[in-house]
Amino acid sequence: SHPVLDIKGLRTSFYTDDGEIPAVDHIDVHIHKGEILGIVGESGCGKSVTSLSIMGLIPSPPGRIIGGNILFNGENLLDASEKRMRSIRGNEIAMIFQEPMTSLNPLFKIGNQLIEALRTHRKWSQAKYKERAIEMLNLVGLPRAEDLLNAYPHQLSGGMRQRVMIAMAMICDPKLLIADEPTTALDVTIQKQILRLMKKLNKTMNTSIMLITHDLGVVAEVCDRIAVMYAGKIVEQSDVKTIFSDPKHPYTKGLLASVPDIRSKTSRLFSIPGNVPKPGSIKKGCRFAERCQYAMDHCFEKDPDLYSFNDGEHQVRCFLYEKEGESAHESTITTS
Ligand code: SF4
Ligand code: MG
Repeated sequence: SHPVLDIKGLRTSFYTDDGEIPAVDHIDVHIHKGEILGIVGESGCGKSVTSLSIMGLIPSPPGRIIGGNILFNGENLLDASEKRMRSIRGNEIAMIFQEPMTSLNPLFKIGNQLIEALRTHRKWSQAKYKERAIEMLNLVGLPRAEDLLNAYPHQLSGGMRQRVMIAMAMICDPKLLIADEPTTALDVTIQKQILRLMKKLNKTMNTSIMLITHDLGVVAEVCDRIAVMYAGKIVEQSDVKTIFSDPKHPYTKGLLASVPDIRSKTSRLFSIPGNVPKPGSIKKGCRFAERCQYAMDHCFEKDPDLYSFNDGEHQVRCFLYEKEGESAHESTITTS
């Protein structure tokens, strides 16, 4: 069976007075049915632009998707009409964001907001809407669901609000949930609870999840596979176990070394010096070269290809693997 989501050669650029800014630059990534894929990288790597591209929400102008395909159950979303996209968003593909940025309206009761999310896509009776809302609140582990329907968002804690947002996202039983930094604003204990909840929903509702985060600790907890993004490109991709036991790209290694070591109680053992370059600022060579302790002369001249291991399951974009790895196939699709 084909993947739920299959992104091939996606390119999304922004056009400013300074010229073209390639925020997402030729990415190939897919998610199988029931799988949780983590997209990891620092802020400014192109993770959120990837998710907005899938949802058809790139602000245009200044943004534009200039290449690639986004196949959702085999349908290319880049060819879908706005009407079709409206019927997909919130229904077949749902999204949740970082807590304070989530879209609970402070003026409306929780119940009304849940039912509104449902009413957009389902023509049901009021009683059935209410029943489904209660079912979802129970499913996300919120007690006294009946009372909660009449509560306002400010009466809930941050963790509870995020559970409501998840209930709202899942209420139409989407095939794909895109979660963009869903736990970043929450404290560690609540974070773990929310991640466990997402894993549970992934299993019980068989929803595929794209989990976007800067935190490898978060992906270790729940993901099946990981794609590491740097400056608009995927630099490494594999199953979660391989990424943690056999990381290959120097950026992945740096991120891993930055995961707090719980036993030693130090907050950070190592963090990668420098910042993600502004998209478009590096005209040639590997985008990580400025920060890479292994950089060779040609790293500053040529963009590294993708090399693959484990029959293509593990891919890495770095010249260090030119000899060991197999050359990997990359999609090039220009949008007309
Ligand atoms: Fe470092 Fe060169 Fe590999 Fe880029 S291609 S990550 S600069 S070694
Ligand atoms: Mg972001």
